[in-house]
Amino acid sequence: MNSQQLFRRSRTRLALWYAGVMAVILGLSGLGIYRALIQANWEALEREIESIAGTLHDSLEPMLPPSADPTVVLQQIFPDLCVARQVCAPQPTVIQRHTIGISDRTSYYIRLFNHHGDLLAFSPNQPLPLPQTINPTLWQTLQSDSGTRYRQFTTILHSADAHTTSTDGHDHPSWGYMQIGRTLAPFDAEVRRIRWILTVGLPIALGLVAASSWGLAGLAMQPIYQSYQRQQQFTADAAHELRSPLASLLATVEAILRLPPAQQQDVPPMLQTVERQGRRLSHLVTDLLLLTTLEQNVSPQSFKPCCLNDLIADLTEELSELAADSDIHLAHHLPDSEIYVLGHESQLYRLVSNLIANAIQYTSPGGSVLVSLEARDRMAIIAVKDTGIGIAPAEQNRIFERFYRVDSDRSRKTGGTGLGLAIAKAIVQRHQGQLSLGSEIGQGSLFTVSLPCMHN
Ligand code: ADP
Repeated sequence: MNSQQLFRRSRTRLALWYAGVMAVILGLSGLGIYRALIQANWEALEREIESIAGTLHDSLEPMLPPSADPTVVLQQIFPDLCVARQVCAPQPTVIQRHTIGISDRTSYYIRLFNHHGDLLAFSPNQPLPLPQTINPTLWQTLQSDSGTRYRQFTTILHSADAHTTSTDGHDHPSWGYMQIGRTLAPFDAEVRRIRWILTVGLPIALGLVAASSWGLAGLAMQPIYQSYQRQQQFTADAAHELRSPLASLLATVEAILRLPPAQQQDVPPMLQTVERQGRRLSHLVTDLLLLTTLEQNVSPQSFKPCCLNDLIADLTEELSELAADSDIHLAHHLPDSEIYVLGHESQLYRLVSNLIANAIQYTSPGGSVLVSLEARDRMAIIAVKDTGIGIAPAEQNRIFERFYRVDSDRSRKTGGTGLGLAIAKAIVQRHQGQLSLGSEIGQGSLFTVSLPCMHN
């Protein structure tokens, strides 16, 4: 599988996981909201029925007849109720009067029963057919033939003297029962509406989640992909850099092997070429290894206090011969007090030596290189300033890239691998410092390293 496919597959997998998790969260939230809405509607509906039943109950009870034939009296009290087993002419009902202002009055019905549970009277808008005898369950849900559902509440009616004056001479705890019911059609319509919203809304939301997951997975993969591409580029560059000295080395060895015995005096200079190429290769491989180690970012356990004054003094002394060979004046300027940083000594040596060596390398004979050190704002500042060829603004960022050279021919001739500044930058970053550059073509360059100080 090539890298493109691998990244595409990882992106798809990431997007699917993300969308899956979001789908579960959205699904559960949707279900929760659905249930909460249904529950709230249902409770409001039952509260409304209960409150209407309570109002009716309180206004009816004082008027209830202790009568031998309650239906006659009921007809007098509620002329708009239908009496059981009699022809009923629909009129505005008592329930309608009591429910005015509370709710849609046509959606309610009332039924009155005697204490035996036999139906006495009912409002004409009751759903048919309903049983003629009482089912005293407090709450019931009924369904008419047309499929309309009704919620019904049953309450006991007492009359002031019902238990003293009863028709059959027995004491009864109650006068009878009242049932208040209402249609569930608006409630069912609301449930259907919520379901419809969820059925349409959830897939749309999931579609949006899927699209954004794909986008977000792409964003998440981007830095990994870029880093992978950088690694690939690095491998290709490293192979390219290794190839030239290796090819030249092999060609020289082949030439030596083919040399006739008469020309044996040519062997030593050819071996010198082999040695030079071998050293170059070894140098390159060491740099590559160092760069890899630095980028692995292992914990800085090996860090020790390093005196930068000593480090700079040592290095300027060490490189003074190289500077003298190129007719360059190399000097340093150090403060009186010693400046310490916590770091990896050999890496810090490598950092400063790379900068000084570059300054010498890219400065024409007669020029000068000054290395200075100072402490400022809890930072140790090392500045390497030369009067060399300078670096064009367009190149100033690129020179820190691995294997990048402004003038490759010149750099190769002087033995540069193109990794010097990349290594310097990696070392500075590993020490939580910063490396900056100011340069002008033909005027010279100033490389500044700032590292966190131990003492001020
Ligand atoms: P090299 O091994 O080629 O010196 P570096 O990474 O050290 O590689 O430097 C990268 C490039 O930056 C060099 O090829 C050179 O063109 C430029 N450079 C580095 N230091 C200086 C300097 N002091 N003055 C001018 N150019 C410089």
